[in-house]
Amino acid sequence: MKQTFKIVLWIVIFVFLTALTQIGGLVFVFSLILNRLWKTVLKMKPIITFLGLYMIVTFVIVPAVAPLWGREKIDNTKNIRPVTFMTVLLNRDYVKPELNELLKESEKYLVGTNIDIVYLDANFPFIDRFPLLPHLSHNDGKKIDFSLVYENNQGEITNQKKSMSGYGVFENPKQGESDQIKKCLKSGYFQYDYPKYFTFGKTNSDLTFSVIGTKKLIESILRNDNLGKLFIEPHLKNRLGLNDERIRYHGCRSVRHDDHIHIQLK
Ligand SMILES: [Zn+2]
Repeated sequence: MKQTFKIVLWIVIFVFLTALTQIGGLVFVFSLILNRLWKTVLKMKPIITFLGLYMIVTFVIVPAVAPLWGREKIDNTKNIRPVTFMTVLLNRDYVKPELNELLKESEKYLVGTNIDIVYLDANFPFIDRFPLLPHLSHNDGKKIDFSLVYENNQGEITNQKKSMSGYGVFENPKQGESDQIKKCLKSGYFQYDYPKYFTFGKTNSDLTFSVIGTKKLIESILRNDNLGKLFIEPHLKNRLGLNDERIRYHGCRSVRHDDHIHIQLK
């Protein structure tokens, strides 16, 4: 009975780590084998083995081998960075080389603006059609999400964000603006505002949405011919006065996009 419980627990851990980091489940299996072979008695040995192995695989092995399967880590620069280090730690920062190029081109356009390209979830390092939960479409190296741009109470553009994950703090429709969120929720798409459960803590409540900053960021992305689609909630598209035909509505089956911007390559 005890053995059965242990096996079930291992399977649960394997599935959880695989869904969260893609390679974590396999690393867990290897760490169990290593533990058997490594005879030294040590306090918290399973955790030390797993974490040690996970760090080596995440920061040394995967970045070296992912390009063989067509994806690479996002090149972070002074102005291109993740909203949280967890994105990097959980291997959620892999893209096709063309997407790295798009980011660099956009960065050039933003020189002199003090707007950073702050990215959220991108893709896992391997295997097309392996979804990066909870985003079902982030499965081919061509997708990435960005944070909106905000202003402080002096009206200056800042690169600080309103939630720890970058998701889940919404820039709601104002009075008179179209309200797609209400329409989707009324039609029974109850998942539409689920990002509210993924903030992992709200912060900087004094910041306000920057029309100028967010528009400039989106324009920097639209300059790229390689861009396929960009998703943002319709009321923000209107508020920002954007007309590019690549800015599409993602549909009620997705989640609301007034907390982040989603883009994908052609
Ligand atoms: Zn997305």
